[in-house]
Amino acid sequence: MLLISVYKNNMTIGMYISLVTASFNLVEQMAWNLSKIMQKYSKNKIYLNDLSTFSNLEEIEGADLLPSVKTRQIPLESIEFKNVYFAYPGTDRYILNGLSMKLEKGKQYAFVGKNGAGKTTITKLLTGLYDNYEGDILINEKNIRSYKLEEIKAMFSIVYQDFARYDISLKDNIILGRVEEIENDEKNDILVKDILCNIELKDDVDKLPKGINTILGKTIEGSVDLSGGQWQKIAIGRCLASNAPVYILDEPTASLDPIMESEIYKLFGDISKGKLTILITHRLGAAKLADEILVVDNGIISEYGKHNDLVNKKGIYSHMFESQRSWYNE
Ligand code: ADP
Repeated sequence: MLLISVYKNNMTIGMYISLVTASFNLVEQMAWNLSKIMQKYSKNKIYLNDLSTFSNLEEIEGADLLPSVKTRQIPLESIEFKNVYFAYPGTDRYILNGLSMKLEKGKQYAFVGKNGAGKTTITKLLTGLYDNYEGDILINEKNIRSYKLEEIKAMFSIVYQDFARYDISLKDNIILGRVEEIENDEKNDILVKDILCNIELKDDVDKLPKGINTILGKTIEGSVDLSGGQWQKIAIGRCLASNAPVYILDEPTASLDPIMESEIYKLFGDISKGKLTILITHRLGAAKLADEILVVDNGIISEYGKHNDLVNKKGIYSHMFESQRSWYNE
């Protein structure tokens, strides 16, 4: 078509060449971009599937209520699992197979066992995240199903492996643990500084440009990112702010070096004196300090007792301990 215009002297040869080159470029661009767009589209479609599954979930009444000051005062005496069976919804593999145990106020417990044994699952049931279990879960001898979700929230404070790192100020990162009772700024500052001393972060925070008001993370201009160990301590600080009667620490991620990891365990042990604490760990050196160790295996508590008793029993725990012996100087 263009050649006809050139032939009739309606277009110069220069213009002809530019238009042909531009057309080829356009075709190439479109083909290239189209495949990129299709790739993006298919990826986003998968995200959207998740999003629509999420938004179609049934809303549980009261799930978004925060504990009141009154609910925070409910004392916790005991937690009991009686013959609990549990499989995650949509699966038929039982993770808990008739698990029974009793935990009491003021004691430090360690859950140990192989990866995937069901240790974290126990804490999920304990905090009311799943309801489709068989058997009984009792808190203060009362069925957990009879508690309101806000009461359960008030009782437990958990530092999960994949705890959140909020890109907000350091102070707010900690105060979130007690968001329903946000006091005036002055009182918050005192509380946060006190917590920072307990989690041994005060010196590090004093060096930050805006102290406790420094925004954390990588996304906001002027913010400061922390190391893995410091973030872990902040998550523990949030746990402290909640002042819940039960603290649970799921084993720190592999991103921590062994020295920092044992420091975190020690710190957690120190700050939670007088509370019922559950420490989930594969490092038996940390478990050794607990009042009672519970070995989770095949969905039940297969052994329990103090470190020395379990070592002498020559069962799973002693086997695990033998294989880790070289990690510790006995
Ligand atoms: P542990 O804490 O002892 O390492 P977990 O309690 O995290 O073990 O997991 C126990 C088992 O449950 C694992 O086999 C895991 O793959 C499975 N599991 C964990 N979460 C889910 C889930 N949301 N849906 C299905 N299976 C899960």
